[in-house]
Amino acid sequence: MAAKKPFLKVQCVTCKTTNYFAKKTKATAEKKLELKKFCSTCKKHTVHKETKK
Ligand SMILES: [Zn+2]
Repeated sequence: MAAKKPFLKVQCVTCKTTNYFAKKTKATAEKKLELKKFCSTCKKHTVHKETKK
């Protein structure tokens, strides 16, 4: 049986589109992930935050 790898969805706060996935680590589990990433929906760099589920 394959081990279940916990992944976080990283969502654009502007349009709520999930653009990225991040591996759940001790560091990301303890504090909220916040990344400045390019969003293809907004067509610009926006703040992306982790979302549960
Ligand atoms: Zn967006």
